Amino acid sequence: MTVFKKNNFLFEDVINLKGIGKKLSQYLKKKKIEKINDLLWNLPYSHTDRGEIITLDKLEVGKISTINIKVKKYNFPRIRNLPNRVNCGDSTGSIDLVFFNSREGYIRKVLPIGEEVVVSGKINYFRDKYQITNPNYISDLSKSNYVKKIIPKYSLTEGLKEKTYRKIIENLLNELPNKTEWHDSLFLKKMKFPDWKTSINKLHSSTDEKKLTSNHYRRLAYDEIFAHLLVLSKNRKKIKKIKKNSKIFKQKIKEKIINSLPFKLTKSQQKVINEIEIDLLSKNKMFRILQGDVGSGKTIVSLIGAANVIESGHQCAFMAPTSILANQHYELSRKIFKNIGIKIALLTGKTDYKKRKEILKNLENNKIDLIIGTHSLFQKKIIFKKLGFIIVDEQHKFGVKQRMDLAKKGGIDCDILLMSATPIPRTMMLAVYGDMDISKITEKPLNRKNIITLSKPENKINELLPLIKKEIKSLNQVFWVCPLIDDSKILNYSSTASKSKYLEKYFPGKIGIIHGSMEKENKESVINSFLKNKIKILVSTTVIEVGIDFPNANLIIIENANKFGLAQLHQLRGRVGRGSKQAICILLFKGSLSQKAIKRIKILKETDDGFVIAEEDMRLRGFGDIIGFQQSGIKYFKIADPVHHADLFKLAEENIFNAQIDLLNTDKYDFLLKLFDKAEVIN
Ligand code: ADP
Ligand code: MG
Repeated sequence: MTVFKKNNFLFEDVINLKGIGKKLSQYLKKKKIEKINDLLWNLPYSHTDRGEIITLDKLEVGKISTINIKVKKYNFPRIRNLPNRVNCGDSTGSIDLVFFNSREGYIRKVLPIGEEVVVSGKINYFRDKYQITNPNYISDLSKSNYVKKIIPKYSLTEGLKEKTYRKIIENLLNELPNKTEWHDSLFLKKMKFPDWKTSINKLHSSTDEKKLTSNHYRRLAYDEIFAHLLVLSKNRKKIKKIKKNSKIFKQKIKEKIINSLPFKLTKSQQKVINEIEIDLLSKNKMFRILQGDVGSGKTIVSLIGAANVIESGHQCAFMAPTSILANQHYELSRKIFKNIGIKIALLTGKTDYKKRKEILKNLENNKIDLIIGTHSLFQKKIIFKKLGFIIVDEQHKFGVKQRMDLAKKGGIDCDILLMSATPIPRTMMLAVYGDMDISKITEKPLNRKNIITLSKPENKINELLPLIKKEIKSLNQVFWVCPLIDDSKILNYSSTASKSKYLEKYFPGKIGIIHGSMEKENKESVINSFLKNKIKILVSTTVIEVGIDFPNANLIIIENANKFGLAQLHQLRGRVGRGSKQAICILLFKGSLSQKAIKRIKILKETDDGFVIAEEDMRLRGFGDIIGFQQSGIKYFKIADPVHHADLFKLAEENIFNAQIDLLNTDKYDFLLKLFDKAEVIN
C-alpha cells in the first residue's frame, strides 16, 4: 500500500508535473493527455536519428542530421528582421547556422569562435549554401552524447516542441518510484521481462525498430492485457454471484410465434434460443452477448426470448442505437406479437410529450409488456413495474464501462442480452467479452442468396450507369459509398459532394446524400425518404446503421474500397440483399491493384461469413481496423497489440484462470489497474 500512495502522483492532473504550466496543460488536454499517467502511454511514433554524426559533404536537404563542426565567423546584421548567421565548417565543407529571435550574446556563448561543437537540426539549402535554421540542439563536445542519443520523437504537432516534450518526459521518468512490481518474480524471470520502471524508461528511449516484440514492451503490454482481463473476470465473477428469481414460463407464446413465422428458424437460431431459455429459467442473472453476422436473424431470436419473459409476468425493454432502427424493431414486433395480446410501445426522442407521459405511466403500472426505443429508455425518470429482460441491439457501439452500467440496470432479477453484428476473431473473444457468456449464430437463413461481389477500376465508372438504370427501372435502390464528405486537397478519395453531383447529371431528382456531419434529424429524414423509395440512389459515407432493413436496396457501390477494412466492407455489403432479389456489391479501385489488395478482394468474393472475414482482416491489417472495435472496449488498449501479443493474451488468461489469483481480493493490482484506467470500470 505504501507503494500505491507514493505512486499516486501519476494519477494527478498533468499541471502538477514539473515543467508543465497552465498553457501547456491546456494544450496537452486537447491531446487527451489529462493525468500525468497519460504521458507514459503517449509514445514516440518514430525516432529522429541524431545518432550518427555525418560530415558536411554527406548532407541531404530536408533530413534531420547531426554534425560536428568548427565555428568560423559571425554575421550579426543590425537590421530588424534579418537573422543572425554563424558560418561553420568541417574538413569537407561549410554550413551556416541561422538564428531568428536569438540574441547575439547567447550565440556567442554557445558557439564560441574556433570551438568545435555538435549541432543537430534540419538541413536546408539556400542561395547555394547549406544551412540549419534554429538548430534543435547545440552542444560542446563534452556533452555531445546528449545530442547524439537517438532522440524519441513524439506524435505531437504544432504547439509543443520536441525539446519541451522531451524535458517533460525526462522529469516524469525521474519521478518514477523504484519499488513498483506486481508480478511474481519467477514469472518475470521466466519471461525475461524487466521490472516496471526499467520497462517504462526503455519504452521512452528505445530506438528498437522491433519495439513491439522487445522484452520491455512485451512486459508492459502484458501488464495492460492482464489488467484488462482481470477487470473482465472480476466483473464476471461478481455477476455470477448474483442470485435472481428464475423466470417461470411454459413457452406458450413462443410456440404461437414460431408457428406463425413465414420461415423456419435455422439450427443456429434454435440453439441460441435454447441457451437464452436456460439462462432465464436458472437462478443466475443472464449477461450474454449474441454474436451473429449481418442478416443472420438475431432480432427474432431476441424477441422469442422476450416472449418467454413476458409469459413469466415480466416486462421487457429493447434498446436500439437509432430511432429508425427502433422503429423497424417496433413494426416487426407488432407483426410477430399480433393476436397474442401483448402490449408494445415505442419510445424515442421523437415521441411527443403527451404520448411519452402516457407511456411512462403505463410502464409504471405494468400496462406495457414490451417497450422498444433508443437509449432514452434508460433515463432515470423511467420506472418499470417489473422489468425482467433488457435487449440491446448493435452493442458494439458501447464500451466496457457502459456495458457494466447496463448490467446494473433493472436490478437483480433483470436478465440482459446484448447483440452485435461485429464478428470477432476467435482469439479475441475473451479479450472483448470476457465478462459475458457468448452465444453465436453461425449460419444464415437458407433462402438468402449470396451477394455477388465484383471489383472494377475507377476509370470505368461510366460502365456502371446502365446497370444502375436497370436497377432503378425494376424499382430497386442503390447505395453509393464514398470515404469523404467533401473533396480534399490532401486525400485523393472520392466524396459524397462530387459524386452526388456526378450522379445527378444522369439521374436527376433521384439522388440523396447522407453523411456524419449532418444533423441527426436530417439524417433520419433522408433515411426515411430512402426507405419510402422516394430517393433511388443514396450517396453516403459509412454512417448508415447496418442493422436497418432496406428491402429494395439491391446494389451497393463502394469507392476507394482499398481504404476500408475487410470487415467494414463486409458490413457495408450487408446493407443490400435483405430482400428476395439477387444483390450486387461493386468495389471500385483507383489505379492498379497491389497483390495484397487482390487477396483482400478474393476473400470478400469467396466468403460471406463474417467470422472468417474477421479472422482474415485481423491477419492482413492488424487489430485496429476491425470495425466497431474502436468503440467496443478494445480501444482501451494503449500499447498492447492483439495481433503481435496473442501469446500474452493466452498467458494472462492462464495466469488469471488457473486460480492463482483470488479475484475478490486484488488489492495488489490496484496500481496496475489505475495505470490503465481500469479501476473506474470496476467501481
Ligand atoms: P440481424 O441478425 O442482422 O439483426 P435480422 O434479425 O434483421 O438480422 O434479420 C434479417 C432478416 O432475415 C429479417 O427480415 C428477418 O425476418 C429474416 N429472417 C430471420 N430469420 C430467418 C430465417 N430463419 N429464415 C428466413 N428469414 C429469416
Ligand atoms: Mg439487427
